[in-house]
Amino acid sequence: MLSAQELNQLTQQTFAGATYGVFINNQWQGADRTFPVENPATGEVLVTIPDAGAPEAAAAIDAAYAALPAWSALPAIQRADLMRKAAALMLEQRERLATIMTLEQGKPISESRGEIAYAASFLSWFAGEAERVYGQIVPASSANKRILVMRQPVGVCVLITPWNFPAAMLTRKLGPALAAGCTAICKPAEQTPLSALELGRIFIEAGFPPGVVNIVPTSDPVPFSETIFADERVRKISFTGSTEVGRILIANSARTVKRMSMELGGNAPFIIFDDADLIPAVKGAVASKFRNAGQTCICANRIFVQRGIYDRFAEAFTREVAAMPVGNGLQPDSLIGPLIDQPARQKIERHVADATAHGAQILTGGAPLPADHNPTGTFWKPTVLANASSQMLVAQEETFGPVAPLIPFSEEDEVLAQANGTPFGLAAYFYTRDVSRVLRIAERLEFGIIGANDALPSTAQAPFGGVKQSGLGREGGSVGIDEYLEVKYVSLGL
Ligand code: ADP
Repeated sequence: MLSAQELNQLTQQTFAGATYGVFINNQWQGADRTFPVENPATGEVLVTIPDAGAPEAAAAIDAAYAALPAWSALPAIQRADLMRKAAALMLEQRERLATIMTLEQGKPISESRGEIAYAASFLSWFAGEAERVYGQIVPASSANKRILVMRQPVGVCVLITPWNFPAAMLTRKLGPALAAGCTAICKPAEQTPLSALELGRIFIEAGFPPGVVNIVPTSDPVPFSETIFADERVRKISFTGSTEVGRILIANSARTVKRMSMELGGNAPFIIFDDADLIPAVKGAVASKFRNAGQTCICANRIFVQRGIYDRFAEAFTREVAAMPVGNGLQPDSLIGPLIDQPARQKIERHVADATAHGAQILTGGAPLPADHNPTGTFWKPTVLANASSQMLVAQEETFGPVAPLIPFSEEDEVLAQANGTPFGLAAYFYTRDVSRVLRIAERLEFGIIGANDALPSTAQAPFGGVKQSGLGREGGSVGIDEYLEVKYVSLGL
């Protein structure tokens, strides 16, 4: 266990000599205003950084647009080399990057280390895809014609990311964008700009030309947003965040008809059938629900448990959850860090109060940590609610916190109707040993990502994305690069 003084020292050392600014053309620039970046575990200000407004957004577009011709013309193999170098540097500097992530985001340091490796994997994996952007020659219907199909970069892309995975959400967009030959303007979330800005330093070290990657931190996304939507030179927006903001961005894109990729909210069902292997199902549910203190868009939000296994599952699951240490993410044994802010805590309080008022029982947790261990009030004990129902707020809305409602069910059709009974369709999970059921359920779940006996499906090689109001397009996998490519058809008369 680190003492308060040791934690303080680690924070000081991490930021000693670090300069942050608006990252444009490989340079750190100032802005008229500044804003503080706070540690959600302590409430202290970590650093104060320039706060970009409309002029900085415009300068970033100028830089990305100027860099586009040379970057897209660079042989793919050379773009790939630079991307692999950046990935290697991220891994070399993993400890520093992970510490910064935990300081600004709160997640346990072990998870931050994992995220840095995961984030680097999008650069190295898409480096490979850069080398495989194939076109087609299609048989024509007349002898004196040839049909050529080329795939070309979309152009200048704006990448808007959330605070819950401040490095990986960015590289999941940057990897395919850079591989395709696009240049980028990254806008990190106001709570977690440092993990993104640190990547700016890494891109310089790797040897990226100026203007290819630009990073614009701001405390107010609206002037940034207005500038990019008004500008014809921005050809694509890729966004990860709430469905509410996604809707605004989709509406705004109409003005200059930009391509959009959207990774929006989820409300993941996690179904345990009677014939599931108990221990893997319990471990999977814990990992899915409580990673990042439940603040992930694919985390289990509704845990449906068939009646034959319900009691055994509830007991084993509660035992694991009750043993999870809660505390500052820099403490090596911490498994649950703070929530990102006060509204996040208020939402959890509302969900737990609503569930208990409607008949759910608290098996463990159900309250914040005591005040003497809770400097910000945002540490919430991991919670299990028994006998929850699909009508409760905790099942209707994305809780985005460490609260697991267990909902009993009897029949397959009944649970499918409840699981699909949401406007969201990002991730769904189920545990069973019956192979026929695996396919039957996977086919009938209306979600973009299905974890069948697997609670952690995210990986650079696979297409990640949602159906219904959870999004548009896919990130990762061989289809991930398509979002950053235009198809051009050349009809050649001979
Ligand atoms: P969350 O609920 O996870 O904070 P948000 O959707 O509010 O999700 O934020 C995700 C990202 O979208 C952040 O980078 C945020 O700054 C950005 N954002 C929020 N509102 C807008 C907007 N009007 N235009 C552009 N970006 C926005």
